[in-house]
Amino acid sequence: MALDIHTLRLDFPALAQSVNGHPLVYLDNAATTQKPQGVLDALNHYYQSQNANVHRAAHALSGQATHAFEAARSKVARFIHAPDAKHIIWTRGTTEAINLVAYSFGMHSLKAGDEILLSTLEHHANIVPWQQVAAATGAIIKVIPLTEHAELDLTAAAALFSTRTRLLAISQVSNALGVINPIKELIALAKQVGALTLVDGAQAVGHFPVDVQALDCDFYVFSGHKMFGPTGIGVLYGKRALLEQMPPWQTGGEMIRQVSFEHTSFGELPFKFEAGTPNIAGAIGLGAAIDYLSGLDRSILAEHEQSLLQQLLAGLTAMPDVHIIGRPAAGAVSFIIDDVHPQDLATLLDMQGIAVRTGHHCAMPLMQALGLSQGTIRASLAFYNTADDIAALLAGIDKAREFF
Ligand code: PLP
Repeated sequence: MALDIHTLRLDFPALAQSVNGHPLVYLDNAATTQKPQGVLDALNHYYQSQNANVHRAAHALSGQATHAFEAARSKVARFIHAPDAKHIIWTRGTTEAINLVAYSFGMHSLKAGDEILLSTLEHHANIVPWQQVAAATGAIIKVIPLTEHAELDLTAAAALFSTRTRLLAISQVSNALGVINPIKELIALAKQVGALTLVDGAQAVGHFPVDVQALDCDFYVFSGHKMFGPTGIGVLYGKRALLEQMPPWQTGGEMIRQVSFEHTSFGELPFKFEAGTPNIAGAIGLGAAIDYLSGLDRSILAEHEQSLLQQLLAGLTAMPDVHIIGRPAAGAVSFIIDDVHPQDLATLLDMQGIAVRTGHHCAMPLMQALGLSQGTIRASLAFYNTADDIAALLAGIDKAREFF
């Protein structure tokens, strides 16, 4: 089946606009993706016709809202091949999902001398919460180093695992470099020493199908807004036995069974981890994003993205003063240009309607490890990008060069 990208793009109203007098070329998808009309309609429909709080009231609207909200949870479970919806906890996003595990599991289960294994490629969201846990518990953070190609060094990683390792927390795809990490191998190493595993899938779920049971990770986290859903909604998947053992993190309404001034008993999974009124519209919107993706042949979308990636890499490689960082394999390409500050280039590209991101990409330790004090320029793809977008970026760089 051939892919008609130009027709697909019509589903994303935000792509059809001009910026600074030029047609928008949106290459900042690792930061957030644009939303298809189906997601916008689902948000609108909820607020226009179903708006009510979930789980509590006996009236019709609340019943509809609850049904749509819980149906979205089931869609997420199917989307990542979780055994059922009880394994799916709504969060505000990847960051909050990691904080939930850090505070509920980390703060309560780790002790002095226990080790948390991270990688040099992690986003701050998968570093800072663990530093907080380490500071409070005396646990130690160890970091998997990089090879000369800016990929995770599996040999060095194997040597870092020991019986003291309690948790491996690792991204599936690097947001800064577009590198796919060998998470299957790392999860296998973690299992050999009895460590738990958390996979940050923020940059994975929008690009290829994910099967949490095949990965056999203990926790998997991601954000709705990076996979064509709304902001403010994300997911923590966890294995049931672990989630059952973990204490609640935030407490209050919705997450309880029985409350008295003497004692509170907590609700069952997943509600035990969902204190307060949730982001109902966000969850329904994420369900609509999953419906949208499920209606497409994702292997064809991935092939298309790969061809764009190769086009971009070939174009950048042909520019003698451009240096690609690492070996990008999914979504994002980071590069620097001799004697050009990334921010200056981004500003000149923006004047041509081309949206890219510059800086440290919330991965300061990675930038330090690579000696990139000014950060990089990052172009990041989604399936709705076109060969023309890539050509526009390459031409835009050439044009910007005239100013330097
Ligand atoms: N992890 C990775 C790999 C990311 O790319 C991001 C966002 O860029 C995050 C975590 C944090 O996601 P959010 O800001 O949606 O919580």
